[in-house]
Amino acid sequence: MTQGNLDTSPDVTVCHSEADDHAVTELFAPRAVPLGGLRAMQVDRVMPQRGLPTVGAWCFLDSFGPQEARMQVLPHPHTGLQTVTWPLAGEIHHRDSLGSDVLVRPGQLNLMTAGRGVAHSEISMSSGQLQGLQLWVALPEDRAVMAPDFEQHVSLPVFAAPGVTATVLMGSLGGVTSPATTHTPIVGADLVLDGPAVLPLRPDHEHAVLAIDPVVVADTDVPRGHLLYLGTGRAEVRLAGEGRAFLLGGEPFPDELVMWWNFVGRSHEEIVTAREAWQAADPLFGEVAGHDGARIPAPDLPGIRLAPRRRR
Ligand code: MN
Repeated sequence: MTQGNLDTSPDVTVCHSEADDHAVTELFAPRAVPLGGLRAMQVDRVMPQRGLPTVGAWCFLDSFGPQEARMQVLPHPHTGLQTVTWPLAGEIHHRDSLGSDVLVRPGQLNLMTAGRGVAHSEISMSSGQLQGLQLWVALPEDRAVMAPDFEQHVSLPVFAAPGVTATVLMGSLGGVTSPATTHTPIVGADLVLDGPAVLPLRPDHEHAVLAIDPVVVADTDVPRGHLLYLGTGRAEVRLAGEGRAFLLGGEPFPDELVMWWNFVGRSHEEIVTAREAWQAADPLFGEVAGHDGARIPAPDLPGIRLAPRRRR
């Protein structure tokens, strides 16, 4: 996904739990963001938000569909992050500057680690129903300039408990660990609910749940597309409802991040350097085959210094 991340107009509801100072329920609404392309497609962006730059190392969350749409995202760069692409309906053709050329289907995880720089394109295979998530994971400072990498996992482990089937994409949940490469202690899991359920959590991690369908999380109604932030200090969370949700969490991320367009860094200068390299077709990002050189140019920088996103 491609568009800039400077817009913030969230609706925030804060409700501090009496049970624990660190356990909270804060409901965040998504905002509609148009993606470019031949047939513009709209996504619901629920992270980052003012006051909620990260949940663990998760720093970006778009959901899209179900809608009749054709995703046409031409080659564009990333730095300092991992992209996690999780289709729920439809197939997406992923190509990147590492030479990866794969189809990603529902139930399969595409994980691209940008490190110091990578470029990729994402094109849906045909017009039709498209639904899915794209998330970004910030890399810790000592891995931010690592060599780029791409991995696809067609089989992922499942944590099952009464009322819930949780496919573990990233990190660990209830002793079930994904084979995907992670660089900080995190969890990302697709949840299918068919009744009341309890999920085990790590109390030293913070967590949030995205409602793909309307669900109840920690006794809070979470409308479709909304994110309920749960804070830290929870050994478990109660869920109810029928349908799909997504759990994200991890060790609270220590760094303040500067995020602009498709770049994650730690300073204004770092972002300016990455943008200039992309505009100059610097070999840092490589070439995505099959597009005859077509690419998405970086937008203009705002006329201000980019500032880190801060927590509440
Ligand atoms: Mn991308």
